[in-house]
Amino acid sequence: MKLVIAEDDPTSRAMLQAVSSQWGYEPLLAEDGNAAWDLLHQEDPPRLLILDWEMPNLDGVALCARIREVQTTDPPFIILLTARDKPIDVVTALDAGANDYIIKPFEPIELKARLEVGRRMLNLQSRMAQAHLKLAYQATHDPLTNLLNRRAIMSALELEMDRAGRQMYPLAVGMCDIDHFKKINDEHGHLVGDEVLKEVSRRISSALRPYDPIGRYGGEEFLILLNSCGLQVTPPFERLLEAVGGTPIIAHNVECRVTLSCGVAVFEPPQDHRDGTALLAAADLALYKAKDQGRNRTLFEPPKTEAIAPAKLVSN
Ligand code: GH3
Ligand code: MG
Ligand code: MG
Ligand code: MG
Repeated sequence: MKLVIAEDDPTSRAMLQAVSSQWGYEPLLAEDGNAAWDLLHQEDPPRLLILDWEMPNLDGVALCARIREVQTTDPPFIILLTARDKPIDVVTALDAGANDYIIKPFEPIELKARLEVGRRMLNLQSRMAQAHLKLAYQATHDPLTNLLNRRAIMSALELEMDRAGRQMYPLAVGMCDIDHFKKINDEHGHLVGDEVLKEVSRRISSALRPYDPIGRYGGEEFLILLNSCGLQVTPPFERLLEAVGGTPIIAHNVECRVTLSCGVAVFEPPQDHRDGTALLAAADLALYKAKDQGRNRTLFEPPKTEAIAPAKLVSN
């Protein structure tokens, strides 16, 4: 494990370098706080630090405080190693964000043991950060398709409508549903149905921009949000229909021809009222009409919202 040793005294620095290498660490040397700060900004930065207090330019405690100002899920473990031995010094260093404090002169075996504590803490911290990331992913994604789940795509809709309203660009909302999907389940079984759902999701994702929110709204229904789409929303949805229906899907050795129907509604600020329910209802109605007119197509429907009088816009 990499270990930053920030110490302005060359003899102490060399001694710390020698013992920490013997203990299996990879020491990185800094002669002042600024040099240590730079070491923390390299690729794959070190996370275990020994800082002297008194150093030119930037001292150990000031460096500690600067490190703690940075919001991160992976903060470094900092040991202050100093000749200052007053309780108020210990308190000052811990308040500034040090994890541990060792008074010089020190016993090497004590430093070794405290470094081990730091190593254990860092391992625990990164396992917790990984678990947190995994839970956050599971809470927002559908396990079968890996698309956003219903709750997450609804939050994304709120967010995108806010953003569209602020930046004054249109937001297209597409409600897309696989055609005659029940037949695939009935004829080939649910395992094939599941595989088809996964492949349709992959094809939808790859037909759109990586940052376009796509969610599994229901069983075989997807909600797609296209921001800054301009008023020409046909091309992305035509691409989508082609990506899904253009080539058959092979699922568990069964060839399935799958098509998609999409209902689209566009929110155009400032003339449209900000009403997510009306927008979804319009997309849903358009989808219903697309199904009714023979499926495998995209239809548009304007949201039925209260018109905003120009005077009201100005007074806001
Ligand atoms: P339409 O063209 O009118 O949409 O017809 P459809 O058959 O696609 O629609 P319907 O609503 O009749 O059937 C949807 C089917 O989707 C029924 C349901 O069992 C299936 N389904 C929903 N979720 C899943 C899933 O996770 N896996 C599988 N295999 N099937 C699912
Ligand atoms: Mg010093
Ligand atoms: Mg369907
Ligand atoms: Mg459906």
